Amino acid sequence: MAFDYTYSERAAGMRPSPIRELFKLIQRPGMISFAGGLPDPAIFPVDEFAACGDVLRSKGPEALQYGATEGYRPLVLDIAGRMEPLLGRQVTPEEIVISAGSQQVMDMLSRVLIDPGDVIVAEAPTYPGALHTFRAAGARFALVPCDGDGMQTDRLAEVIERCRLAIGRLPKLIYTIINFSNPSGACLPEARRRQMAEIAARFGIPVLEDDPYGELRYSGERIPTLFSMASGGVLYASSFSKVLAPGVRVAWAVGDADLIRKMVIAKQGMDLCTSVVAQVLVAEYCRRGHLDGHLAKIRTHYAAKAAAMGAALREHLPSDEVSFSEPTGGFFFWVRLASDGQELFRRAVNEGVAFLPGETCYPEAGETVGEPHDGRPFARLCFTFAQPNEIVEGTKRLARALSRS
Ligand code: PMP
Repeated sequence: MAFDYTYSERAAGMRPSPIRELFKLIQRPGMISFAGGLPDPAIFPVDEFAACGDVLRSKGPEALQYGATEGYRPLVLDIAGRMEPLLGRQVTPEEIVISAGSQQVMDMLSRVLIDPGDVIVAEAPTYPGALHTFRAAGARFALVPCDGDGMQTDRLAEVIERCRLAIGRLPKLIYTIINFSNPSGACLPEARRRQMAEIAARFGIPVLEDDPYGELRYSGERIPTLFSMASGGVLYASSFSKVLAPGVRVAWAVGDADLIRKMVIAKQGMDLCTSVVAQVLVAEYCRRGHLDGHLAKIRTHYAAKAAAMGAALREHLPSDEVSFSEPTGGFFFWVRLASDGQELFRRAVNEGVAFLPGETCYPEAGETVGEPHDGRPFARLCFTFAQPNEIVEGTKRLARALSRS
């Protein structure tokens, strides 16, 4: 007989990550996937990374011991150095924590900031994995609409005020993906960043600036970070997942020392420390100067893939049924549909192609404070994972699925 567990209230409210569930559906042989937000495995620097494994021998037992919860010192110092131009000032090791993916940053932050019922302001659409983690902490969401340039920051103050009216207190956090957002691909212009920083400071609301795609710009000039525009109150997070490989599970956050200290304490209860083996390998990869060369290579590689998907979408999909803009970085095309994305998803999977239905990128009405948003007429297509022939063939299959509506 199956054991009868009495689950916690928190577990009762948990739902599986919609993305993980979709992954199960699309693992059929022959399926072309535009669904996962994944880098191209064909360009992983396997040889260079494997060669860094020598360091495990030279470090000896040090690499196989527990490390400091805040991170492996040489990697912390490397990240501090690389962050300086991005963040606009020198950052000290006390302002950095290394995590098992930036997903864990959201978890640590939730544990130290969010009580059940608290509200998080997010742009709509937003990263489904963030919704998953914040939801698990009992958060609700207040949504700021987006246009092709990302969050409409001129609506931000109004959304915050409405939240205060609705629940009697301010939101606890603003969550934003400023560069080449997952899922929309949008890059927030400088004036909007300044406006967001000003409004967040005025209301005294901290911001999580989630930036795993910032280094993956294919055209135009880099725009200053929110972190560099604020004097505190912004936690900047980034990750090696998109620029090196997601399986290494190494990411980092930079923020006010007091907040980082609290997050480190929360992390102690999660995993004691991020895998030291992984951190030692990543630190060695950076120390050997491989990261910059690899970044230059993947920018060219992904720019070509973005162009290939843009051309395929324009050639094969009916322009009266889909519209999209060309991303200037990151991993995604965000496509507006004339029909329901979930329905199209089912037909597309039958044709042998998968994407992420837009609905997964919006909180549900019941967990939204203020106006819910309708994600049904959208689809997120990842252009980085599929190979060039698959980009064309997958788009043709998508066209067939559209024609069956
Ligand atoms: N934030 C965003 C916006 C992402 O797209 C992702 C990965 N899909 C993450 C965070 C999590 O990345 P990591 O592998 O570093 O946990």
